[in-house]
Amino acid sequence: MTGTTDSTGFETILYETPAPKVARIVLNRVDARNAQSTRLLYELNAAFDAAARDDTISVIVLAANGPHFSSGHDLRERGRLASMTEHTTVGTWCGFGCEGAEGTMAFEKELYLGLCERWRNIPKPTIAEVHGKVIAGGLMLVWPCDLIVASDDATFVDNTVSMGVAGAEFFQHPWELGVRKAKEMLFTSSVITAEEASRFGMVNHVVPRAELSAFTLDLAARIAEKPLFALKLAKEAVNAAQDGQGRANAMQTSFALHQLSHSHNMQVHGLPIAPAYLEGEVVKS
Ligand code: ZN
Repeated sequence: MTGTTDSTGFETILYETPAPKVARIVLNRVDARNAQSTRLLYELNAAFDAAARDDTISVIVLAANGPHFSSGHDLRERGRLASMTEHTTVGTWCGFGCEGAEGTMAFEKELYLGLCERWRNIPKPTIAEVHGKVIAGGLMLVWPCDLIVASDDATFVDNTVSMGVAGAEFFQHPWELGVRKAKEMLFTSSVITAEEASRFGMVNHVVPRAELSAFTLDLAARIAEKPLFALKLAKEAVNAAQDGQGRANAMQTSFALHQLSHSHNMQVHGLPIAPAYLEGEVVKS
């Protein structure tokens, strides 16, 4: 392992306990605008697990250091499929070292779908504390959380259609925005402001940037006063209602279509995304 580690051994995140019963996980790849390297995603997963297993913790906040919450997947990470041998996987999918669609699908099914579904079902309330930009894959860190608090400077965009891809892997768009706004978001690659996101029902609260952390911590502390078992059951009941509406099946279909778009780009361009966008708008700060 290289780089600086905090007392928990993490390189890319921080783990804090800022109030009784509240854990706060902070994305901390500031120079990379919190782009999701494989290490960051597995460290985040380990931190979520640690908070879930700690019986003194009732609520988990996910925040970020730096100017932006997350610029999405780390498209500059090299050797990511080979690096899978360094991590304990969360699913049963296999073939990470395979060529073509097989290796890509294995990696994304494990890293993007597998982790997100796990985080969505953590048996404790989770709150995303969001500021700055959330770009494409960045949404997969926000949407699995139960509540979203955004500062007034927060923006959300899924520009994957501009890259020749059929939407970010954790395809929660219709459930977060409603069908029409989800389509507009995907078709246009337009930025959605925090205020708009709140109007669509995607965000619970929009607050001034300077008040974001205090507001979120206060919300977390108030929830943490409730009986944890009742919180767990209430969360599971709402998630079951959404899955009963077809979310889980739709997610599998959209993931397969996403893989088809990667496979098409590989055949036409030799890359999983359209090459014109690789050095363009993806990771601008
Ligand atoms: Zn993908």
